[in-house]
Amino acid sequence: MLQLAETHGTPLFILDHQELRNNYALFCKHLPRVQAYYAIKANPDPAIVKTLFEAGASFDVSSMAEFQLVYELIKDLPEDQQLDWIWNKVIYANPIKAPETLSELNKYQTLVTFDNREEIQKIKKYAPDAGLVLRLRVSNAGAMVELSSKFGADPAEAVDLILEADREGLTVEGLSFHVGSQTTNFENYVKAIDLAALIFMQARARGYTKMNLLDIGGGFPAPYDESVKPFSELAKRINAELERLIPSEIQIIAEPGRFMVATAATAVSKIIGKAVRHGKLCYYINDGVYHTFSGIIFDHCQYHLAAFKQGPTEICTVFGPTCDGLDVITMTDELPSNLECGDLLYSGNIGAYSGATATYFNGFPPAKIVHVNL
Ligand SMILES: *Cc1c(COP(=O)(O)O)cnc(C)c1O
Repeated sequence: MLQLAETHGTPLFILDHQELRNNYALFCKHLPRVQAYYAIKANPDPAIVKTLFEAGASFDVSSMAEFQLVYELIKDLPEDQQLDWIWNKVIYANPIKAPETLSELNKYQTLVTFDNREEIQKIKKYAPDAGLVLRLRVSNAGAMVELSSKFGADPAEAVDLILEADREGLTVEGLSFHVGSQTTNFENYVKAIDLAALIFMQARARGYTKMNLLDIGGGFPAPYDESVKPFSELAKRINAELERLIPSEIQIIAEPGRFMVATAATAVSKIIGKAVRHGKLCYYINDGVYHTFSGIIFDHCQYHLAAFKQGPTEICTVFGPTCDGLDVITMTDELPSNLECGDLLYSGNIGAYSGATATYFNGFPPAKIVHVNL
């Protein structure tokens, strides 16, 4: 790391592509029935998309720009093969889509999610060739990032929406949900799969038999600390529930974002100032919450900093480089008190919702990205 910082300067964002491949392989190994659609929003770096593409991943996109990142990789295929690939490996998982977006998507005949009546009318008008997936509202209890207040059909209305789409001449291919990002409450997945199984049954009972897809969404937790139980444990719960309730002819997909990329990056920053304020040691570094550490604000994620240098430690505040008082990375990390300007700090597991939400605020550009093990 020090060597890379020496070569490339700081702030630096080191992305390890072997770790991406390992995470993808781990996901496939423990959830053999589930096809993984990497949720590009977690980190849209084109090199990540390429590495996961080469590893065999499918993709969850939520904007045309994200769609283009994937399309770039298959644009040289003959058109019929492109369409097959998109149908099998891409889902446009933003339940609310602008009319212009739907018009553009229509020619690719993608899967798109929806969760309300208005959207059915929009899809009918602008993207009648899309395949529909109904997003259900499910419990997000205990997730780090809650999504259920913004998206998801009320389960009591689910079958009515499916039948309405059918009456409008659209095809509902299946159901999806998102249990909330960084879900450590594994019960959320169990309950959501139970609910989906119930809706499959109710739809069938009311004469709709075309659904053949279950999308169990994202939310798979990254191992930020020891309190996060191993992925194998979550997978065991999910597999048992799928085995028990979802017939084998139903295709199962998932949209892991954070799980694929969180552990694949480390940020390295440089101390650019040091002060004692109200008796507390404060360090100022050249990366902050408007940049790589933006997840502190947008993702509600707490990152920890560590030093390369040894020394007696004390509890410190670490600030980012901007003039805004919001730009605080930590007020509780224990760091050596003998660090000086020019010394480096690092923070691991920072691959998800970090660079993705970084800005140029106050004239400080986002960290330089270096790719290792490409
Ligand atoms: C953000 C998002 C994801 C990825 O969620 P993670 O918690 O990062 O796995 C997946 N699907 C949808 C629809 C999303 O909005």
